[in-house]
Amino acid sequence: MRQIAIVGSGPAGYYTAEAASKKWGDDVRVDVFDALPVPYGLIRSGVAPDHQSIKKVALRYEKTALSSNVRFLGNVSVGDDITVRELRDLYDAVILATGAPNDRQLQLEGDQLDNVFGSAEFVGWYNGHPKFADLNPDLSGKHAVVIGMGNVALDVARILAKTSGEMQGSDIVAHALEALHTSTLETITILGRRGPHQIMMTPKELGELLQLQRAAPSVDNADLPPPADDTNLEPGLRKSVELLRKFADLPEESHAKTAITIDFRFFAGPKAFYGKDGRVTQVECERMNVVDGRPVGTGELFRLPADLVISCIGYRASPLGDVPFDQRAGRFDSVDGRISPGLYCVGWAKRGPTGTIGTNRPDGYNVMELVAEDMTSGSHKRGREGFDELASERGLEIVTFSDWQKIEGAEIAAARSGAPREKFVDIASMIAAKS
Ligand code: NAP
Repeated sequence: MRQIAIVGSGPAGYYTAEAASKKWGDDVRVDVFDALPVPYGLIRSGVAPDHQSIKKVALRYEKTALSSNVRFLGNVSVGDDITVRELRDLYDAVILATGAPNDRQLQLEGDQLDNVFGSAEFVGWYNGHPKFADLNPDLSGKHAVVIGMGNVALDVARILAKTSGEMQGSDIVAHALEALHTSTLETITILGRRGPHQIMMTPKELGELLQLQRAAPSVDNADLPPPADDTNLEPGLRKSVELLRKFADLPEESHAKTAITIDFRFFAGPKAFYGKDGRVTQVECERMNVVDGRPVGTGELFRLPADLVISCIGYRASPLGDVPFDQRAGRFDSVDGRISPGLYCVGWAKRGPTGTIGTNRPDGYNVMELVAEDMTSGSHKRGREGFDELASERGLEIVTFSDWQKIEGAEIAAARSGAPREKFVDIASMIAAKS
């Protein structure tokens, strides 16, 4: 019998559990741990609440979770309740699928001012992650600045721009819906330090900005390179740039008709934040040139008004005990997912914060090949049985998958009309709902 522990129940964790289950069938036992009492990681607290079709992938993870050789153990914090070393003593293979839950920091003067957030915090707030549910951003100003030109910046700008009506059918949490409903924003500036040819935004997501009821996107024609330069772009990026050209060509009436302008500012590197009474009021930017694909400052500074700032510049994994960690890249130190025989990483914890949800599937299957190479036959480690003994000694309150189903049932029952669920946003309520 092979005993495998997977730390993290997001896409990377469940694709890995699926791979183990497919590879060894009845000859494996897989325990999937999560620090939260609820599963699915980024599907629940990262994917935008108005992108419900993407969240449907959780049904596939549920199928894995319900297979007889896979267990979910929620409310167990690896690193606090049990160490990686203890897990390694109990299981043949330990796979870290802990994602990249922390914001990369800009580390600029003024970044501690009120109403300056990172995307992990802000996205966590509107998605009801217990750690960020109390963030309480002030949306009563006129100007928001979103830093970064990736899909997370787009998610944040779109959620800020949508009306309550447009959020129908989403699972945005009540506190965020309420705050966004009373928002008085007039401009959402998306700030990119490089140019239109260097954006990381994908066309489907960018195109959604043309469908918004009370907002319209704006691009300055002067920032766009000559159209002929688009021919050499990779097809996805070319489509995205075509959309930017469409935004630049929108007639003035589109903006006159809408309350919010989503303004793309290229070649603008953030330099500092300024505020009044401890709260942000301005972002200082430096005009940039792009030289050999890299942003290079020109020394020319200018300021943009900013009542709210959300920096969407990427994420970092959390180090765990003495597991080797690449501080520069913000992920575990591994060779293709093998940290050392018996200890592995997958998903963002391995690659850093890139790729789609589907990218985690090959990651999970590949890591299982490494596990198979290192673990040619099952050992006699105590696995589940040993963990259960230790959990009871330590008085851990484990949330099982059937407990999660009760929590989910309560969330579905509490949903406002048209919404799939109303999430619990604190751990005590989640735990209470299982009994
Ligand atoms: P991302 O795609 O890597 O974009 C990060 C952005 O931040 C880039 O525009 C980058 O500019 C900018 N940036 C980095 N450091 C900066 C700095 N010091 N100053 C100014 N700008 C800076 O990351 P992401 O948006 O966080 O997305 C993470 C992953 O999740 C991506 O793979 C994304 O596609 C995926 N995702 C997908 C969806 C979806 O499919 N619907 C939704 C959300 C996220 P430079 O390029 O100049 O470095």
